Amino acid sequence: MAENHYKVVIIGSGPAGWTAAIYAARANLSPLVLQGTQPGGQLTITTDVENFPGFPEGIMGPELMEKFQAQAERFGTKVVYDTVTDVDFSKRPFTVVADEGTYTADTVIVATGASAKWIGLESEKKLMGHGVSSCATCDGAFFRGKEVIVVGGGDTAMEEANFLTRFCAKVVVVHRRDSLRASKIMQDRAFANPKIEFIWDTAIEEIVGSKETGVTGVKLKNLKTGEVSDFATQGVFVAIGHQPNTGIFEGKLELHPNGYLKVKPGTASTNVEGVFGCGDVTDHHYRQAITAAGTGCMAAMDAEKYLEALEATATPV
Ligand code: NAP
Repeated sequence: MAENHYKVVIIGSGPAGWTAAIYAARANLSPLVLQGTQPGGQLTITTDVENFPGFPEGIMGPELMEKFQAQAERFGTKVVYDTVTDVDFSKRPFTVVADEGTYTADTVIVATGASAKWIGLESEKKLMGHGVSSCATCDGAFFRGKEVIVVGGGDTAMEEANFLTRFCAKVVVVHRRDSLRASKIMQDRAFANPKIEFIWDTAIEEIVGSKETGVTGVKLKNLKTGEVSDFATQGVFVAIGHQPNTGIFEGKLELHPNGYLKVKPGTASTNVEGVFGCGDVTDHHYRQAITAAGTGCMAAMDAEKYLEALEATATPV
């Protein structure tokens, strides 16, 4: 087989991808991990992970991902910093095209995860990196002593708001409803934080500022009364959820209407035999590091079974 041929190619390097790699490598399948544009995935832009079992004191997200990678490499995983741009699952071996090379594979494990959603405003796009961010961990320190807004009412928004209070003078959570979606513990923490305030039933209509001044304010719309008002702020952190990274699989793998990759319940199998899915790209419900890791294990075990069956049919009796 060609030099760039692998029994298992894993696309993505979050908890799902690394766990698939650990299992595939320990099964002697010498997998290749194509890391993608955000090696380590979403955990690399978070701080303390307090709910990953085995770390009673908590662990920093990036450190946890380094440990996953080290464990995968220890058993012979090859890791390449490369981003996949196209795939061909219509013939075997499968082809995976990336920026730096083209790879062929007997099985492919899709672990491409999900990315932060944006509100969709022109002004949001214009001021990204100039006061607009989706990552408090990455950018929070730039807002020391300032007043900022966090948009959203889920766990991510509460986590971002709490984290930002380490730097900011005040954090205002702007949420489109009058109750939060976040878990009770995260809500309680946010409500108890004296630096966090809430504006309910409200959407951001426009973010005001320029690349020179940064964000100077927002136009807020009260969704119950329709009233629009100006609100001064120096930063906007958007924390309104995620979308699956399935763009390159459109028309090639079966997706749910919301874009998430379809897998057969209780397995990691997609509609193409030999292609498996795991982690957040398949999961719009739980979206936890531990569930991603669990399904990464499933994907590797399913791939191993598939390869065994393939070899059994290829061996002359
Ligand atoms: P989420 O639970 O889907 O929450 C998204 C929030 O953004 C919701 O409050 C939603 O409002 C709001 N929203 C969505 N689209 C919007 C728009 N266009 N404009 C304004 N607001 C909008 O997403 P998440 O907070 O990222 O959490 C995702 C998953 O990860 C959850 O399962 C969560 O438990 C988990 N998570 C856990 C932790 C932790 O335990 N430490 C931390 C982060 C995330 P509505 O409420 O009105 O729909």
